[in-house]
Amino acid sequence: MHARIGAMSTEMNSNEAPLLWIVVPCYNEEQVLPLTAPLFLEELQLLAAAGKVSDSSSVVFVDDGSSDGTWRVINDLVASNSHFKGIALSRNRGHQNALLCGLMQARGQCDITVSIDCDGQDDITAIERMVDAYAEGYDVVYGVRSKRETDTVFKRSTAEGFYKLLSKMGAEVVFNHADYRLMSARALDGLAEFGEVNLYLRGMVPMVGFPSTTVEYERTERVAGESHYPLGKMLGLAFNGITSLSVKPIRLVAGAGMLFSLVGLVGVLWALVAVLTGNAVTGWASTMCVVCLIGGLQLLSLGVIGEYIGKIYLETKHRPSYIVKERTGFDR
Ligand code: UDP
Ligand code: MG
Repeated sequence: MHARIGAMSTEMNSNEAPLLWIVVPCYNEEQVLPLTAPLFLEELQLLAAAGKVSDSSSVVFVDDGSSDGTWRVINDLVASNSHFKGIALSRNRGHQNALLCGLMQARGQCDITVSIDCDGQDDITAIERMVDAYAEGYDVVYGVRSKRETDTVFKRSTAEGFYKLLSKMGAEVVFNHADYRLMSARALDGLAEFGEVNLYLRGMVPMVGFPSTTVEYERTERVAGESHYPLGKMLGLAFNGITSLSVKPIRLVAGAGMLFSLVGLVGVLWALVAVLTGNAVTGWASTMCVVCLIGGLQLLSLGVIGEYIGKIYLETKHRPSYIVKERTGFDR
């Protein structure tokens, strides 16, 4: 059924340029949208003029429960040009959920989607190279940052360290790729088969499969406003990424448990020998060290395992990732 919808939309446009939806999650971006929306539109018109995408392509903004005037700005944009569409979520659900909402709305409606941040940090001109790669037969095209010169040294080193950690943990991720990517209709159908609630899209998309490639782009500063990803949220996303994609932390805990058991066994033997040979000392300090060390390790291990159990708990509830409050511009 899913595959059929994908095949249908591709067939519909097989002789013409593909229908593109640019999906843009926005959270409290009233300052940013008036600056970047015209750029998205311009790029769309450029691509359409070059015959690379259909004239009926769209830019779809997903308002992730903003508390400022973002939805008003989106409505103004939709009123000003028929290429704009808007979806409002019932509340703030985070970037990943907002993006999934946009992609799932696009399913069966277009041939390709490009997901991009609304703040102008992702180089819009890379969309053309992504569309070219799609024309060459790739279903997924990952935007990869060529340099991170505008990021602080701290952000750059933590982010790059994280990608390395993820691959050590056995998770398949594309190095330096955030969520700027092109996906074909059938790749979207594949993504829709994943029923998970704890989303880490950039780890899930490689699992969907299909031919994929990368396109390099330079990431620049935000055109206005502030990042919604402070260190705490970034670490949260990183931790979610690891626990979503890999069970290696649990294995590490098991491995550490085994190692400490062995060391413990040696300790017991040593203590027995000491008692039997009459060399037993009061040994308060060594006992304290062992108790503290093992206690800490046990708590840490419980925490790691608890994290996975918490995730299982959330997954079993099957709560919706997002609830749509309003749509605008879809009826034309
Ligand atoms: N965003 C969102 N929901 C949120 C936080 C952010 O939809 O809860 C959007 C935001 O509007 C932007 C994109 O996700 O388009 C990336 O966020 P941001 O630029 O704040 O993160 P950074 O680029 O600093 O990592
Ligand atoms: Mg940003």
